[in-house]
Amino acid sequence: MSTRGTLYTVSAPSGAGKTSLVKALIESTEAICVSVSHTTRTIRPGETDGVNYHFTDKDTFTQMMTQGAFLESAEVFGNFYGTSQQWVEDTLNSGQDVILEIDWQGAQQVRRLLPDTVGIFILPPSREELHKRLTGRGQDDDSVIDARMQEAISEMTHYVEAQYVVINDDFDQALADFRGIILAQRLTLDNQQRRHEQLLADLLS
Ligand code: 5GP
Repeated sequence: MSTRGTLYTVSAPSGAGKTSLVKALIESTEAICVSVSHTTRTIRPGETDGVNYHFTDKDTFTQMMTQGAFLESAEVFGNFYGTSQQWVEDTLNSGQDVILEIDWQGAQQVRRLLPDTVGIFILPPSREELHKRLTGRGQDDDSVIDARMQEAISEMTHYVEAQYVVINDDFDQALADFRGIILAQRLTLDNQQRRHEQLLADLLS
């Protein structure tokens, strides 16, 4: 039987590069995958249903919530988001590590339910850079950008709740840091004892 995988929450303000980092990490690291959340928000250009999110109407979301289908759920910027309990359990039990790309509210709920969860927070390198990344193609007016900055600052106040913090200045360095966390976590005493129970018993007999 394979050893149960580790559950990670990855949180960040929008503009920190979280989704790109997670994508690059899972493409270059074995035995780790990302959960696809359910959301009631409308699909954006370039997104695919079932890949970026399971896009769901509000009634279906509420019904799933009532049935206890979500490990965690939260309202973020007026839309609902939730993580499938069954998928996470099955994937962890298959021996794979699982990443949840979720906001601070969801991360708190998961940590309460599953205290072994490892929290990672991704931060931008400066306030100026964050502002630049949130300005996008310059098509939004100042009040929209100010609102995005306030939302980002509010999310960032929760960085202290994570165990690891990655600063995304240079993308390749941030990816190396991120991968370093996952690889180090696989080598903790607890995880090595579980993974190599027989070897450790043989070595000491
Ligand atoms: P977006 O709609 O821009 O993809 O995501 C908005 C926010 O919702 C991000 O902070 C993202 O991490 C968060 N989010 C995405 N999926 C989930 C989820 O399943 N649960 C929670 N709590 N937050 C989520």
